[in-house]
Amino acid sequence: MWPVVAGKILLPLHERLMRRKTFRYYHDLELSQWFSSHRLRELQLIKLQELVSVALKNTDAYADLAGVDKPWLPESLEDLRKLPLLDKANISTHREGLVNRAVPGGPIRYNTGGSSGEPLIFYFDKRRQAYDKAARMRTHQWWGIRPGEKEAYIWGSPVELSKQDRIKNIRDWIMNELLLSAFDLSEQSVGWFVERLRRFGPKCLFGYPSSISLMCQLAKRVGLDLTSLPVQVVFSTAEVLYDHQKEIISRSFGGVPVVNGYGSREGGFIAHECPEGRMHITSENVIVEFIKDGKPVGPGQDGEIVVTHLDNYAMPFIRYQTGDVGQPSDETCPCGRELGVMKVVKGRTTDFIIAPDGRWVHGLALIYVIRDIPGVRQYQIVQEDVDSIRVRVVLEDGFPADGLERIRGGITERIGAEVRVDVEQVSEIDQDPSGKFRHVISQVARDRSMAMRLDDAR
Ligand SMILES: [Zn+2]
Repeated sequence: MWPVVAGKILLPLHERLMRRKTFRYYHDLELSQWFSSHRLRELQLIKLQELVSVALKNTDAYADLAGVDKPWLPESLEDLRKLPLLDKANISTHREGLVNRAVPGGPIRYNTGGSSGEPLIFYFDKRRQAYDKAARMRTHQWWGIRPGEKEAYIWGSPVELSKQDRIKNIRDWIMNELLLSAFDLSEQSVGWFVERLRRFGPKCLFGYPSSISLMCQLAKRVGLDLTSLPVQVVFSTAEVLYDHQKEIISRSFGGVPVVNGYGSREGGFIAHECPEGRMHITSENVIVEFIKDGKPVGPGQDGEIVVTHLDNYAMPFIRYQTGDVGQPSDETCPCGRELGVMKVVKGRTTDFIIAPDGRWVHGLALIYVIRDIPGVRQYQIVQEDVDSIRVRVVLEDGFPADGLERIRGGITERIGAEVRVDVEQVSEIDQDPSGKFRHVISQVARDRSMAMRLDDAR
C-alpha cells in the first residue's frame, strides 16, 4: 500500500472503526510536545484530578485501598504522594474491585508476564490504547517516520501470530505492517527471515533488541548483507537496549540510528529517545516518579520507576511500581521539548534458550507456556546445557492438577523432544545478584552469544 494512502486514509479509518480517537490524540500530542514544562504540569494536574475522581467514584475498591474519602481530589501534583503505591500483589488481590465497568468501550482484559517475575492480569480501555498508539506515532515522527510508512515488527508473541490469519494479513498489508516472529531464529532460518524483509521493504524496524541483534549476527555469519534494505531507523522496545546490541544493529543496517523506547503493557508508552539522545517522558499521558525507600530520589540517583497512567480509566494504575530502576533528570534537551527526561537503568532482559537443532528460542516463547496456566505465582526457567532445562515454579491457589505436566509438555513442544525438562515446585525463587528477577537464564546462550561477538570482532 502507498504510505500516504495508508497513513492519511486507511489507518485513521481503522482507528475510527475500532472506536479509538488515536488521530485526534496524535494531533493534540504533536502540539503539546512544545508546551512549557509549567503548562505540561498544569495539564497533568487536570488529568490527574479526572483520573482520581473516576477511580474513586467508579470502582468499588480504590477508595478503601487509597484510604481517602470519596470526594477527595489532589490539589497539586505533589498530592499524588498522598496516595499509596500499587504493586502487582495489590492489583491481583483487588483486581475485580478495581475495574471500572462503566468505562466507555468496556474494560479490556490483559495478561502479562510483567517484569518482576510475577504474572499480572489487568484491565485497560480504548482511551489508553489510543493515547499509547498516538504517543508512539509522535515519537516515530521524531525520527522521520510518518504514520502509514512501512514498518516491520520483529516480534513473536505466539498469541499474536496464531491470530495471523487471512484477515490479519490483509489488515497488515493495508496498514503497511509486517509482523515477523523472531522466536525461532537460526542460521538455517535467518535467510527466510531476511528475504521476507527484503520483499516487504520496511522503512523502520520495531522490536526486541535481543532478537534484532541476533538476527543481524546470524545474517552476517551466513553472509547476508542487510545494508541494501531500506531501513532508516530501528526502534528498540520491551527490553533493555545494551550498547553492544545497539552497535551490532546499527552497523548491520549501514549505520542507522537505533533508538530506545521504554514502556510496558501495564505501564503504557512511558518514554522514548529523541534525536538529541534524551529519553523523553510522555508527560501528557503518564506521571513518572522515582522512588527509593518510599521517598523520591534526586536527579542522577537510582529509584524504582513508579508510573501513573493518566489515561487509563478502566483500572487505576496510580503510582504503579514497575519493578524497573531508573533515574530522574533535570536536564533540558536541545530539541526544545520540555517533556520530562529520564534514564532507564535496569529493566527487562530475557535470555534465549538454545534448542538442540540450533534454533535460538526467545525466552518469551517459554514464558508464554507458563503464563497461560493459572495459579503460578513465580517461575524461572534455567538451561544448564543444551539438552536439559529446569523449571522452578512457586504455586498458589488455582493451579490445575495437570499443571506441571502442561508446563513440561509445552516446553518440550517448543524446544524438541530430545530435551529433558524437569519441573520442580519450590517455595521461593531468589533474585539474581543485581537485584533483578530473571525468568529465563541460559548459560548455553550466553556462551554462544559471547563466541559470536568474539568472531564478529575478528
Ligand atoms: Zn529532546
